[in-house]
Amino acid sequence: MRVSVIGAGLGGLCLAQGLRGAGIDVDVYERDPAITARFQGYRLVLDPVGFEALRGCLPQRWHPLLDAVVSDAYVERLALDAQLNKIGELGPARSGIVVDRQVLRHLLLTGLTVHTGAALTGYDVLDDGRVEARFAQCDPATADLLVGADGVGSAVRRVLTPQTNPRDTGVRFVIGRTPMTEQFADLSRAYGGKIVGGGVSLLLGAMRFPIPPKEAAEKLAPEVTLPDIQDYVRWAMILPSNGFLGTSTAQEAALSRMKGWHPDLRALIEQADPDNSTLLSIGVVEPGERWASGPVTLLGDAIHATSPTGGNGANTALRDADLLSRCLIEAAEGHQDLLAAVDSYERQMFEYGGEAVRHSLAALPAFVPNPERPEPA
Ligand SMILES: Cc1cc2nc3c(=O)[nH]c(=O)nc-3n(C[C@H](O)[C@H](O)[C@H](O)COP(=O)(O)OP(=O)(O)OC[C@H]3O[C@@H](n4cnc5c(N)ncnc54)[C@H](O)[C@@H]3O)c2cc1C
Repeated sequence: MRVSVIGAGLGGLCLAQGLRGAGIDVDVYERDPAITARFQGYRLVLDPVGFEALRGCLPQRWHPLLDAVVSDAYVERLALDAQLNKIGELGPARSGIVVDRQVLRHLLLTGLTVHTGAALTGYDVLDDGRVEARFAQCDPATADLLVGADGVGSAVRRVLTPQTNPRDTGVRFVIGRTPMTEQFADLSRAYGGKIVGGGVSLLLGAMRFPIPPKEAAEKLAPEVTLPDIQDYVRWAMILPSNGFLGTSTAQEAALSRMKGWHPDLRALIEQADPDNSTLLSIGVVEPGERWASGPVTLLGDAIHATSPTGGNGANTALRDADLLSRCLIEAAEGHQDLLAAVDSYERQMFEYGGEAVRHSLAALPAFVPNPERPEPA
């Protein structure tokens, strides 16, 4: 069996690792000109389902390394004002596993065949049932199965299910990261909750590595090269629904909305790494009607993109990768045919994927500033 995976994001790479571990031929095609072409270094919180799915796809010999570069995400989820006084609670305390996306991507890339500069433009299902993928700047590739793991703007989805389109929620946010210092370590009660003031919400999260990732890889799995990266604070400012940046930088835009805020919070934004600060919008994809079964399928944000405030997009993409990988391994071992394996994956994925999007949308209003809705006292 040969599988072409479109997109070297977390979902596509995790699937490719699962298949590679079972000896299935898999190639990954990525639109970016190089793996490090874009900064992708924000932290993610994984729940037990997502984390187990990830472990399930990785070779066992890398489990100690994975465990060494993640940390516990236990947070209280407080609502604070701009002077860091408690004004309420967002909900029960939350636990999980914090992982840096860039570190995880480097681990997941190890040993895979990844073709960069390969933007899929379309595909054809051939008479023999296989599928040929076409790319802007590289030769076509033929496989038994094509998996669109190409994110919220998926080119595979546009052909497979053109009626399924991303929806802009209208919510915009500025995101960045700042090296962790003692001053910012003292902001710990703000991590995992939200700080409100001046019509915006500021969300902070700490990424602390038990051992620096590069050092951990050198000790525990020398065949893996992990980036040289230190502890940091990830901050995200959610703007009101008509919020826009104009021509200012992400840092300037955040600071302009923080007049009179606690000096440590202003310092956090002032000391951010400008290259890693940017404006993002929140778009979602809701899985609609199933398409006719065939040798093309989708996973991750390509079919169920959630709002980041739900904290479940990567978890769901990893769950897809593990489930699809297990279904395909069964097919490769002759326990079922390929199309039955894909059908089994899609039936389950549509159900929990749709639920993940609904859950994330339900969680969104708690983070979006609303001048008409007073904050809890
Ligand atoms: C700020 C932020 C914080 C988040 N925090 C969390 C969190 O804490 N927990 C959580 O579970 N989720 C979180 N998420 C969501 C999570 O990041 C995504 O759901 C997850 O990365 C989706 O993975 P994916 O592999 O499906 O898609 P992506 O990671 O988007 O990867 C898609 C890949 O496909 C490539 N591609 C696109 N088009 C083509 C093409 N035509 N041809 C070839 N390649 C193509 C892209 O370049 C990209 O590399 C967060 C998201 C954001 C933005």
